[in-house]
Amino acid sequence: MQQRISYYQYPSMDKYDLHYLKLDLSAEPGSRFISGTAGWKARAKEPMDSFIMEFKNNMVLDSVYINGVKKTFQRGSDHVFIPLSPTVSAGSELDLTFYYQGTANSNGVFSGSQSSSGLTYTATLSESYQAREWFPAKQFLGDKIDSADIWITTTLPNKAGSNGLLVAQVPKPGNKMQYQWKTRYPMNYYLPHFSVGNYMEYLNYAKPAAIAPDSILIQNYISDNPTYFNSVKTNIDKTPPFIELYSEQFGLYPFHEEKYGHVHAGIGGGMEHQTMSTMNSFGSTLIAHELGHQWWGDQVTCASWNHIWLNEGFASYCEYLAIESLPSLFTTTAATYMNNVHNNVMSVNTGSVYVPDTDLYNEGRIFSGRLSYNKGSAIVHTLRFIMQDDNLFFQALRNFQQQYKDSVATATDFKQVVETTSGKNLDDYFNQWYYGEGFPTFNITYLMQGVDSIVLVVNQTTSSPAVTPFFKGLYELSITSTQGDTTVLINLEQNNQVFKIPYQKTPNGIVVDPNNWVINRTGTIVFGGVIPVRVNNWKAEGLTDCSFKLQWTAENQGTTENYIIEYRADSNQFVQVGEVLPVAGATASYQFTYQPNQSGTAYFRLLSVDRFGLRTYSPVISVEDPCRPQTAVNIRPNPAIDHAEILLNIPVAGNTQWRLVNSAGQVVY
Ligand SMILES: [Zn+2]
Repeated sequence: MQQRISYYQYPSMDKYDLHYLKLDLSAEPGSRFISGTAGWKARAKEPMDSFIMEFKNNMVLDSVYINGVKKTFQRGSDHVFIPLSPTVSAGSELDLTFYYQGTANSNGVFSGSQSSSGLTYTATLSESYQAREWFPAKQFLGDKIDSADIWITTTLPNKAGSNGLLVAQVPKPGNKMQYQWKTRYPMNYYLPHFSVGNYMEYLNYAKPAAIAPDSILIQNYISDNPTYFNSVKTNIDKTPPFIELYSEQFGLYPFHEEKYGHVHAGIGGGMEHQTMSTMNSFGSTLIAHELGHQWWGDQVTCASWNHIWLNEGFASYCEYLAIESLPSLFTTTAATYMNNVHNNVMSVNTGSVYVPDTDLYNEGRIFSGRLSYNKGSAIVHTLRFIMQDDNLFFQALRNFQQQYKDSVATATDFKQVVETTSGKNLDDYFNQWYYGEGFPTFNITYLMQGVDSIVLVVNQTTSSPAVTPFFKGLYELSITSTQGDTTVLINLEQNNQVFKIPYQKTPNGIVVDPNNWVINRTGTIVFGGVIPVRVNNWKAEGLTDCSFKLQWTAENQGTTENYIIEYRADSNQFVQVGEVLPVAGATASYQFTYQPNQSGTAYFRLLSVDRFGLRTYSPVISVEDPCRPQTAVNIRPNPAIDHAEILLNIPVAGNTQWRLVNSAGQVVY
């Protein structure tokens, strides 16, 4: 595939609507030389004093006719300019015929031989900007033609495959045959095509339930080589069940009144030419992919190359859907397939599915296997997960196909259809997975709380944090245990989020996203790495200013949220009288001063709260009120024999009674 191209398009080409294309060309297998005519029917959308279309300078344009009148024209910058005098008014119908010939560049026309199959071929491939390489074109995605006739003349016994139905085969002088193909379905500019080669024809029929007992013709043009045919027949025979599957999932095959088919040519891969994909080979997933494009790319085309996701992401996801629904037709499993997709996406830390404007002429980026295909399909799978309802997911896809049928759409259009269908807000999904870059890596700590709950602390780092610092949303976790694994769904909104889940087994691990719904990596999974904080040296003392100084040290306080000081006086209830936030570090010392507004013995306890909600109390400690009014009696000397001095300290005014009793119990005074 070509990489960055230099490309300019005259915007005034959009002054007209191109609605019909007729190609009447001669071509031979093994040669890129093409000759013949291109006919256009166009309608002026506004007054026009010149008619402009795209055609590569290397192709020879012999003459141009408009409404039967031969026109002068100029060429330059891979465009053709036809002055119109008098000016054509809006609404005018223009019937144009271009007589041309030339050897097309190898980036728009592929020719050669394939030794493995014995095929000699010439085939066109116009996506993304290469229609102009082999016919006069208007390369505007939004301007679909309504219908086309494509007639290809080639030397027998070669055949020519193209779009729509083969309505006639007309013998021509020199042992040639003209294959007349006709399609009446709307089609974008890069999907008209032909392939010529030494083909045999092989037919299948698909029978979607929606049109029973009718069926859909599947017309295959394959290298006329029995050994090769036998090697690919099994896979080609999978096409009917694929059509039937996608007709259920996305709506009836869009071109069922004409056909589907494959034409064999050495183009390096596959190309989803409308109603007849061009195939370099016949792998099962390639067959599924190009067929999927008949909905995703052909019936609905991306409105600009920014949104190639709607073509390639979904066609790639069609591969997954076929494997998932028809596992007996594949050697790989859906799980292995998606796992490989994820691994390829994560081989680089950055890159969005959305193609930024700066890359609109970078075909290497538009058709990036990692971003447009792999990541594109992986995030469709994520969207399906977010729906949490396959019926809803496929209904949204069908609604989108129906709403944008025969037209073009952006990812925003798709988003609106899915949001309307599901009632779910997809802002985060599109910002993170479509426009955003990278993927999350999860670090999870888990521990049992009691015997019937498990606590999970979920953290995530991201691979491209400057662009996408966090991936919010639903994630599936499997708590593994010898007593059986338990799958739980979490809705992650921030780092360090704690999930407390009823759980009565003995866990031995956590598997993040066991079903590969979301592109992610697993970092560290730690069990019991979180130990509740331990409070040591918990003590209190009364101070001379009548307050109390409380002190403690803490170990393992990594998950501690706060320390709460509780107080009661004598028989009252404990009440919170203070809160201390932990300082950094696993171990720390604290003190807190409290002055009660009542006197008497003070009782304190310390409550440690961690972010799992674990609440741990210290022992209760009591301390005398340092300022409590006290009645003090001092006797000296003590013991006394014949005399004693008695000092009374009576702090409160009022009457006081006292007695003096000796050690024999006799009242002395
Ligand atoms: Zn594709």
